[in-house]
Amino acid sequence: MKTLLTHLAVVAASLTLVSCVETEVKPAIPIDRELERKVECTLRNMTLEEKVGQMTQITVTALAKGLELTEVADSMIRVHKIGSVLNTPDGKAQSRHDYDAMIKQLNKLSIETMGIPCLYGLDHIHGVSYISGGTLFPQEINIAATFNREHAYNMGKVTAYESRAANVPWTFSPTMDLGRNPEWPRMWESFGEDVYVNAQMGIAETHGMQGNDPNHVGPYNIAACLKHFMGYGVPVTGQDRTPASIAPSELREKHFEPFKEAIKEGALSIMVNSASNNGMPFHCNAELLTGWVKEDLNWDGMIVTDWADIDNLYNRERVASSRKEAVKLAINAGIDMAMVPYDCQFCLDLIELVKEGQVPMSRVDDAARRVLRLKYRLGLFDTPNTSAEDYPEFGGKAHAQLAYEAAVESQVLLKNNGILPLNKNLRILLTGPNADNMRTLNGGWSYTWQGHGAARPEYTEQYNTIYEALSKKFDNLTYVPGVEYNLKSGSKWKFDEANIKPAVAAAKKSDVIIACIGENSYCETPGNDNDLDLSDNQKALVKALAATGRPIILVLNEGRPRIINDIEGYAAAVVDIMLPGNYGGDALAALLAGEENFSGKLPFTYPKYTNKFAVYDYKPAENQKTMAGAYNYNAVMDVQWPFGYGLSYTTFEYSNMEVSASEFSSGDILKVTVDVTNTGAVAGKESVLLFSTDLYASSTPDVRRLRAFDKVLLQPGETKKVEFQLPANDLAFVDYYGRWTLEEGDFVLSCGSEAVDIYCAETTIWDTPNID
Ligand code: BGC
Repeated sequence: MKTLLTHLAVVAASLTLVSCVETEVKPAIPIDRELERKVECTLRNMTLEEKVGQMTQITVTALAKGLELTEVADSMIRVHKIGSVLNTPDGKAQSRHDYDAMIKQLNKLSIETMGIPCLYGLDHIHGVSYISGGTLFPQEINIAATFNREHAYNMGKVTAYESRAANVPWTFSPTMDLGRNPEWPRMWESFGEDVYVNAQMGIAETHGMQGNDPNHVGPYNIAACLKHFMGYGVPVTGQDRTPASIAPSELREKHFEPFKEAIKEGALSIMVNSASNNGMPFHCNAELLTGWVKEDLNWDGMIVTDWADIDNLYNRERVASSRKEAVKLAINAGIDMAMVPYDCQFCLDLIELVKEGQVPMSRVDDAARRVLRLKYRLGLFDTPNTSAEDYPEFGGKAHAQLAYEAAVESQVLLKNNGILPLNKNLRILLTGPNADNMRTLNGGWSYTWQGHGAARPEYTEQYNTIYEALSKKFDNLTYVPGVEYNLKSGSKWKFDEANIKPAVAAAKKSDVIIACIGENSYCETPGNDNDLDLSDNQKALVKALAATGRPIILVLNEGRPRIINDIEGYAAAVVDIMLPGNYGGDALAALLAGEENFSGKLPFTYPKYTNKFAVYDYKPAENQKTMAGAYNYNAVMDVQWPFGYGLSYTTFEYSNMEVSASEFSSGDILKVTVDVTNTGAVAGKESVLLFSTDLYASSTPDVRRLRAFDKVLLQPGETKKVEFQLPANDLAFVDYYGRWTLEEGDFVLSCGSEAVDIYCAETTIWDTPNID
């Protein structure tokens, strides 16, 4: 490695600032003139009331009793001309045929009234969450753990196909919040803590959903909705929908990036973060909604609020002193559609505001135009409905296979003293509250909002819990729960009850124990918690079982990392299955039996202590040896397992890492190659992660950043050369003053055990807000 001193002379000699001349940004989504003509034609004939109606979204539970539309639907459509409906009737998944029939009625009413079809949206978060008999994949946190873009793409594609099978053209997914605070109850809805992983997986899922032409989304595709714009995953308190305090440089460099990248790839809509940052709620932040997204990216897609979040500018955030003022702030900031969701006061307020000159007519035109454009892009004017019978693959074997493969690649082996794969002759005790539970395998957004619907046989009878799946592979299996979630508490997820003695007695008659522990399902604010420790009962169970001396395999089934520091030492093996979905039990059984190999890696940092959370791209000052002198000014980074960690039944060796140039500057593309060899006895897949380190910079640099990844299958003894094309501009950071900056100096690229030093010869500072 070149030393700092070697470079000081070079640096001093070439302190050149290169700034780029601002050029016109090309549209994020190509303009289709014919489509635009149709949009303008429709808009021209609309009244103010109709335009405002298009900007209004109502929950189906306000319009229907069960699946039957009521007179409220009639008045909301005929009088208020509402343009969009969301949510699942009765708060639980319905059959595709029922959806199909109900949405056809809504469309009939909408088209009769104003000649414009209705836009129906559902939260299809890991597959078709709200359609019975459809395919559920692992949650996004698992998809991230696969480090394999194909799974995100497949999930998007299957979700789109099966949504259209129910006549649903729009979904509120993917979630691209950075899950950087494990207290936050929605961490599992995200692709984990890293910027690049969220961007790559979000893009892949969006492509799977929308297909390749955002102007013409076909009958097997739907519109994606990136959410929740932005910085939602880092509330200061860890509690859902509470304020964040994100520095401007970090907002642009980290939180905005995944949204920006997916918008540039054609994402058609975004949903806004319910909370605030540095005192400014996102729902009235004109700089971000209109400036960063619509203008800087030249994006003509549609921005929808989150649930009741215009009202919340008044009720919760208190930046408006009335509902009406809240409407003014949000619409003027750039909101196009209000998820109201219960009544039409929004329409009345907005119409008044326009008449009073407080919201310009041009803003309403722009918003209505964006809603209409989305409906045209989805083909709804030509084909308002799709029909269940045209989708024969719905919930079929081919989709199940894709969900199973994603589940296999998403489970992470964190520890193995050699006990895994399990010998089939062993007498196994299966225990723990998550062992026989479809609800915990799926997590929230599964048949019901809180996920408790997954416990109902009507939805999940045909799938295997861990117990059922293991029973099919292992003959000597005994199941004694030891601890059970308290189902009497309805959808409440937190409480469990212990009956440990029978489990201990059974353990004594066994050779090995599999303890399935973690969390019950929850979603959003009800998932807030005050303590990330695993529950006392579950810890007591593990400790009592350990006292029998039998080896314990801990299976962690949880949406966020629960602290297990004080029981991890008792485990012979640990597998984090997170929330692997309906096929998660089958995947785990095959992995434990050695019929499949582990290849998942953690997409987040697993903390060791409840008061000490970390992310992998921390600052150098967070991990310092003792300073010279009398006092100990050290800083300790001590985590349970780091980001990117995950074992396999085989081993991999990295060698011959090469970078095409040892010196580079902005605009260069660096070719990076590394040999990866399977040095073990079985085939395995390895996720190859390329990190960069900027050794010294004018803003304190991150210790590491993930810049690329790829996944390769290797037979025993096989070597593959993995190649990455790394744009030098990817190594830039946003400086204290908010400017993208690539600074002269030393960098290190690393991959597995390999590292190569490279040198940036010239500083570049960009004038433009975004760089390619
Ligand atoms: C959630 C969103 C969701 C919306 C519609 C909100 O409470 O924050 O993620 O898309 O509801 O169901």
